[in-house]
Amino acid sequence: MSDTQPVIVKVAGPLVVAKNMEKAQMYEVVRVGDEGLVGEVIRLEEGLASIQVYEETAGVGPGEPVKPTGKTLSVELGPGLLETIYDGVQRPLKVLEEKTGYFLARGIDADGLDQNKKWDFVPTVKTGDTVSEGDVLGTVQETSLILHKVLVPIGIQDAKVKKIESGHFKVSDTIATVEVKGGKTQDLQMRQYWPIREARKAKNKRIPDTLMKTGGRSVDMFFPLVHGGAACIPGPFGSGKTVTQQTLAKYCDAQVIVYIGCGERGNEMTDVLNEFPELIDPNTGEPLMRRTVMIANTSNMPVAAREASVYTGITIAEYYRDMGYNVALMADSTSRWAEAMREISGRLEEMPGEEGYPAYLGSKTAEFYERAGAVDCLGSDDRQGALTVIGAVSPPGGDLSEPVSQNTLRVTKVFWGLDAKLAYQRHFPAINWLKSYSLYVPNLDKYMKEHVAPDYWDVRAEGMGLLQEESKLEEIVKLVGPEALSFREKLVLLTAKSIREDFLYQDSFNPVDAYTIPQKQYQMLKTILTMYWEGLKLADREEFDFKKIEELPVLQKVTKVKELDAEDLKAFEKVRDDIASAMAGL
Ligand code: ADP
Repeated sequence: MSDTQPVIVKVAGPLVVAKNMEKAQMYEVVRVGDEGLVGEVIRLEEGLASIQVYEETAGVGPGEPVKPTGKTLSVELGPGLLETIYDGVQRPLKVLEEKTGYFLARGIDADGLDQNKKWDFVPTVKTGDTVSEGDVLGTVQETSLILHKVLVPIGIQDAKVKKIESGHFKVSDTIATVEVKGGKTQDLQMRQYWPIREARKAKNKRIPDTLMKTGGRSVDMFFPLVHGGAACIPGPFGSGKTVTQQTLAKYCDAQVIVYIGCGERGNEMTDVLNEFPELIDPNTGEPLMRRTVMIANTSNMPVAAREASVYTGITIAEYYRDMGYNVALMADSTSRWAEAMREISGRLEEMPGEEGYPAYLGSKTAEFYERAGAVDCLGSDDRQGALTVIGAVSPPGGDLSEPVSQNTLRVTKVFWGLDAKLAYQRHFPAINWLKSYSLYVPNLDKYMKEHVAPDYWDVRAEGMGLLQEESKLEEIVKLVGPEALSFREKLVLLTAKSIREDFLYQDSFNPVDAYTIPQKQYQMLKTILTMYWEGLKLADREEFDFKKIEELPVLQKVTKVKELDAEDLKAFEKVRDDIASAMAGL
């Protein structure tokens, strides 16, 4: 080997340093060592390249060659993404397993898309039409749930379609030929590539103003998320992050789901990998995977792959957004991603910031969440799409002052704080209603009034007000006992308890309870609040025995209000009337 060839000079875990790399580019993909492990250049200094390697580097040593590929780390986009489970650099796990067995995948090439599968392509433009980036060339029924739109790649402007055909094609076959500026022709395929660290372009971002219905009562009613928003779920170990993310994936009204799993312990990701393909989409009765792409980082995968996986995932999510879909991306847990960044930064001997995380943790976190948004898609047909990002964070010991939580909270507008104490009491979802918030409430003002009820916000405010008052009253009760409370205060406690137990508590594993449409949520809360409103009418009576209210049989109906049919508004009204007459009869 001549001494101007790129060779390894140092190996430090997932980081390899190579010399003679003058011709390499930042973020270029290289093949490392005799086995050709996949790596990416992340620092270049006078011919010395620091390469993060996406595979186990044990046994690789100085003197082995490094081969630049001339490409930046990219994902292959096209039909066939859905239903696939990938590793962090978009290699399908199934293909890796077939090639090498589960534990020994090294230096394996595996295309993101199945290169042999044929798809039925139906053109939506014809010869002679002029097309530009983002225009839909045609469609492919990717799964029974999702129609894949084949888009003119970003970068092409005012191209004349010379040829386009319907037919049965592989992703690499030419489906259209266009004439670009200067008279050159260009063949277009169903697949295209996009560098993962670069956000895909859209025409512009819109102010998100549509509720992302999750069916979760605590979430939709009190801490709502919008299509195109960003949310953070911090919670200590065992507080329900994974269950919450999976419940969201199952029930939220996004059309496409991208799920990035970074397991905490070895077997946790394995559980997700086994469980997810079994999940059924409650709206269609079809497997949830038909509208899902999964990225899995099992604990036997190197940290660098984990670092890349969030970018791989979000690029795929943007691609479906660009087709005009509402996409939801769940990342569980982003703390593992941040730790991967910390480890690599440490190997690069960069100056550490807070708790050893690199100083750029904040900017990387912001860049990631800023890829969320509701957009006008590129293309001439006024498509709109949205990408919603929901990131779980696992702060050690549940302490939110640590850097990953802080940086995430800075850039996300919804905070669903999971609480160890609530989880311990088995109050699920363990979302702490006093600490959580949503900054999207103003965005949803019109939506809720129009789609749910004109007095929606009043009912919500009253419900939240009672919960907040309850926590103050509990302090008083602790100090001086319940006897010191006034009639109204006792009524507050009674109603707030019902809000907690009959409204906020929701069992994700009970198919009847797991999903509640916003209209029903509103009816439920209003019915519970009727106890308070009607009870207040008795407040001015002297020496009233509060027990009489507590013992009213009609309160049993309130505990069952979640079982009422969402469509049957009369049934909710009936319970409210019954409460009113029972209280009036006292
Ligand atoms: P984490 O990911 O935060 O470590 P998990 O999501 O694995 O926690 O949740 C721990 C356990 O709590 C679950 O196995 C389940 O028994 C229970 N749990 C969490 N959320 C819910 C929920 N919404 N409904 C019912 N049970 C839940």
